[in-house]
Amino acid sequence: MRDKTPPSVLAKQIDFLYQGLPPALFASALIPVLFMVFLQDFPEPKALRTWAGLMLLVILLRTLTAIHYKKTKQSDSFQIKQAETLFILGVILGAMTWGSLSWWIYPLTDKQSTHFLFFISLLGVAGGSVASLAYRRSTGYLFIILILSPMLIGMYRTQGNTDIAIAIIIVIYILYLLKNVRFFQENSEKVLLLKEKALAREAKLKIASKKAEAANRAKSRFLANMSHEIRTPMNSIIGQTRLAIDEEHDPKMQFHLDIIKNSSENLLSLINDILDFSKIEAGELKIDNKPFDLHIALQSILETIQVLAEDRKGLQLAYTIASDVPQAVIGDKQRLRQVLLNLLNNGIKFTDKGRIDLSVTHLETMAGSLLLQFEVRDTGVGIALEKQEIIFDEFAQEDDSLTRQYGGTGLGLAICKQLCQLMGGDIEVTSTPTEGSNFTCSIPFLPCQVSELPAETSQVKRKQIHNSPLSLLLVEDNEANRILARMVLEGEKHQLMEAHDGLQALNILSEHKFDAVLMDVQMPVMDGYTATKIIRLAEQGEPISGIDKLLAEKLGDYLYDCHTPIIAMTANAMSGDREKCLAAGMDDYLAKPFHPEGLAMIFSNLNLSSSLKK
Ligand code: ADP
Repeated sequence: MRDKTPPSVLAKQIDFLYQGLPPALFASALIPVLFMVFLQDFPEPKALRTWAGLMLLVILLRTLTAIHYKKTKQSDSFQIKQAETLFILGVILGAMTWGSLSWWIYPLTDKQSTHFLFFISLLGVAGGSVASLAYRRSTGYLFIILILSPMLIGMYRTQGNTDIAIAIIIVIYILYLLKNVRFFQENSEKVLLLKEKALAREAKLKIASKKAEAANRAKSRFLANMSHEIRTPMNSIIGQTRLAIDEEHDPKMQFHLDIIKNSSENLLSLINDILDFSKIEAGELKIDNKPFDLHIALQSILETIQVLAEDRKGLQLAYTIASDVPQAVIGDKQRLRQVLLNLLNNGIKFTDKGRIDLSVTHLETMAGSLLLQFEVRDTGVGIALEKQEIIFDEFAQEDDSLTRQYGGTGLGLAICKQLCQLMGGDIEVTSTPTEGSNFTCSIPFLPCQVSELPAETSQVKRKQIHNSPLSLLLVEDNEANRILARMVLEGEKHQLMEAHDGLQALNILSEHKFDAVLMDVQMPVMDGYTATKIIRLAEQGEPISGIDKLLAEKLGDYLYDCHTPIIAMTANAMSGDREKCLAAGMDDYLAKPFHPEGLAMIFSNLNLSSSLKK
């Protein structure tokens, strides 16, 4: 009969057999020793001694096979069938030696108690073997048959009165043990097979999850590229439109330009939503906890939407902050701003008359963190009860007709919920149709001292920066963006030199000093990361490789022991980009399209002072 056991399961079975061998052999060695000690009056002591000696010899041989197995099982020459054959030979040898106790030693005495001792020992050894030998049916069967059937011969030779009854018991016992062997073997094989399958499934899952991770990485790369490609033209559309609005006096033209600006800003915010959502999905959006002034952050949020709420829609906008809400907290200011702006903008969008209120309360302090509750209430159209549960799902909108009336993608609240959860909190809604809605976010923050807060750039300070012209090197490959940046920066009276790529920037930097470098990241010839790394090496007097030797020397001479602030100006808005820029040695990071105020804020944070002669 062909063995249907799969090779991997067979290997496991043989391994279990060998693993069970040392304790079984040790127990077997005790029995002949005990016979020698307690059967001093045995009529044929020489025969008993010979049998015991044989027994110990077989045990020794089988111990050697176990050692051999252990040594060779990891080697290339190891063959499982050979190991199995060796084991079976050991079993036959062992069982025959045990069996000889019945037909050889048993008839040498008439003493009932000795017969009983032999009888019990053999039945015990046979019964005990089921657990250690039944992983393979052949070994279990062989051992039991070879060990017990000679008892029948022994009894036949002693011809006692009770022998028939005992013989019947022995036969029944043999059959019972064989059945047990079969049962044990089948079940243990099933378990091993299941384990095999589970392992194979786990391996497949690992491969699948690696593939999924690779696909996810590809998706993130695609998103990063798309983000860059879309934001680059958006940067120039929005920037140029802003400049055109400032310069245009014809109201009709201003009206058209306003529409272009609003539409572009909406498009950009839509792109940001899609990117954010994809980043959250890919688990790439990280929360950046830092100390910040909560009161200033809330004021700034309200300032942002004030014109929209009050001037355009004629809504009342008010906010209250409970007295026990601290001013300084540690948390992700930008993400909190994103959530609250989304809720407030929704409130304004879905409210035609009445008011929008924002209130902040301190819910509780738990394990050192403050649970703050932000509540945005409006007196707008409200949300039907059955829709309140689904509006936090992506792409869910309360009503198609509302969508047509108000626009939107249905991503905003899904992002809000994910962001709240990423920050360790949650968001809920209660609403009464036609009366208004109430969105509540509870978010934990860590407390901190006001003295730990970074210096916020006030309006006054911003103006000062606007009035303090700097000499700047703009490194940007995209012409439209260069023109825009030039117009914005020259509008702020900064003096500007331009480079189209990292290498050109290095050439300029080897001959000119600047208050700061505005460095694009993705550029042909040499990217911004590489250029920055080289600048930093030159400043530290470290050897520079990968560029022309003469240029490297000139850079080393010109930049040594200085620090030129480098601000990354990039359309990459994926998570980790900021860290990547800082790791390359840049001082700060500004996502495009940039606002003059954003740049002013960075100049201020970097404490840049002008080197220009006034
Ligand atoms: P959208 O971009 O469509 O506004 P959101 O995820 O922000 O996407 O909102 C999903 C839906 O939830 C909206 O389309 C609207 O039906 C409903 N909704 C959100 N906020 C309000 C609100 N303040 N009042 C009434 N309905 C709201």
